[in-house]
Amino acid sequence: MPNDAFITPEIKKRIAAIPGLHLVDDPQKLEDCGKDGTPNLFHRPELVVEATETAPIQALLRLANACRFPVTPRGLGTGLAGGAVPVQGGVVLSLARMNRIITIERSNMIALCEPGVLNLDLKNAAREQGLFYPPDPASFDTCSLGGNAATNAGGPACVKYGTTRDYILGLEAVLPSGELVTTGVRTRKGVVGYDLTRLLVGSEGTLGIITKLILRLIPHPAAVTTLVALFDGLGPAMEAIQTILMSGHTPSALEFLDERCLALIGDLLPFPEVKGAGAMLLIETDGAPDRIQQEIEAIGQLCLAGGATEVLMAPDAARRNRLWEIRKAVSLRIEEHYPLDVHEDIVVPLGRIAEFVACLPAYDAEFGMKIYAFGHAGDGNIHLSVTAESSAATERVEAGIRKILERVVETGGTMSGEHGVGIAKQRFLSLELSPENIRLQRAIKHLFDPNLILNPGKVFT
Ligand SMILES: Cc1cc2nc3c(=O)[nH]c(=O)nc-3n(C[C@H](O)[C@H](O)[C@H](O)COP(=O)(O)OP(=O)(O)OC[C@H]3O[C@@H](n4cnc5c(N)ncnc54)[C@H](O)[C@@H]3O)c2cc1C
Repeated sequence: MPNDAFITPEIKKRIAAIPGLHLVDDPQKLEDCGKDGTPNLFHRPELVVEATETAPIQALLRLANACRFPVTPRGLGTGLAGGAVPVQGGVVLSLARMNRIITIERSNMIALCEPGVLNLDLKNAAREQGLFYPPDPASFDTCSLGGNAATNAGGPACVKYGTTRDYILGLEAVLPSGELVTTGVRTRKGVVGYDLTRLLVGSEGTLGIITKLILRLIPHPAAVTTLVALFDGLGPAMEAIQTILMSGHTPSALEFLDERCLALIGDLLPFPEVKGAGAMLLIETDGAPDRIQQEIEAIGQLCLAGGATEVLMAPDAARRNRLWEIRKAVSLRIEEHYPLDVHEDIVVPLGRIAEFVACLPAYDAEFGMKIYAFGHAGDGNIHLSVTAESSAATERVEAGIRKILERVVETGGTMSGEHGVGIAKQRFLSLELSPENIRLQRAIKHLFDPNLILNPGKVFT
């Protein structure tokens, strides 16, 4: 069915009559809700509505079921897999204004939040009470907790603290039928029944609309130290990572940039030594000041023993922040340089990172593309920017990406560690999931959403 075919004037009137739903008329907002953070993807929504409470969302989904129109949930629209893009038209439901931190229970070390809360706002509010919310996607100052939950977002801190899923104790969600379900617990443990929380987390808005989150917090680390290690090439840098982890250290970040990334952004880094380096590791430890100082020094020694040409400490908070800003700017710089830039976020087993990155130049040569590699090396999550000088190379690049993903799966890895499937990875799903697995997952979708009204066309077609 083509876009703008679902929302007839009659249906629009019925949606407008739902108390508590706000219809968005601003043309710019309508335009913005046709895209997310995924390059070159746009589908205009027929209608955008904003909710600030749960009951109107229930009413909207009941109506969607009765009249069979699609509803696409949207947080803050930074997703990188097209998950919030209304590819089949219908209504976009924005949760952005449902953004209250309902409570932080210091003694229980939990937070109760609405889905539109900015990740950074929870971090700051928790910090005021001496608590820490670790999940830290690079977009933490622009993305919502609901979007993080729906995509099971991760970031540099995953290597020590795990992903969003590890901090969601329970949640409340509106099912596609309009019914409200609460899942999970407010306690540190709980095993009563199937784990519906873990099913809804990472379901990319296809099984339910998350309207409340019960989040686990931990004590805020007292201090953080940051080190940069430079290597001649990626091989020794990746081997150093294994040595660091096998030596019993638990860095709170273990990131890498390859030579090409360094050539693009090296001039911005606060260390002139970076010029000409073949790879860089950005490593942090956090915790009690004495302990982390010892730990970072030991990690520096391991890097030098593993072939690092330089080990440099970030001497102050300003330079540490600058390092992270530049690390985050990598993908933007790449995007500016190339008309064609496809983002992949593959994960390979730790022991095979070095072997995997060593094979990338062969794909460059075979498919006439240029691959930039950077990301969360400490958990094997490698961001690849697969670029070409002209958008006419799309088919060639697509063939190259398919080959790379096949290789990832052969090494025991997965095609996405953070961004999810959305519509960006659908066509590759059968490379990783068996027919039985796909059948079971489709059956779950149909059980939750028999009329396929919630975020249709995503994950499974
Ligand atoms: C510069 C940049 C850096 C990024 N870095 C990272 C990174 O380091 N790690 C990482 O994991 N991701 C990263 N991302 C991707 C993105 O920020 C995350 O996927 C984030 O979790 C999306 O949150 P959002 O609020 O923008 O959600 P949206 O983009 O609005 O939605 C994402 C998905 O969640 C669903 N959804 C949103 N809210 C709800 C809800 N309340 N209930 C049910 N479903 C919902 C949507 O339907 C969609 O499928 C980055 C993106 C950008 C632009």
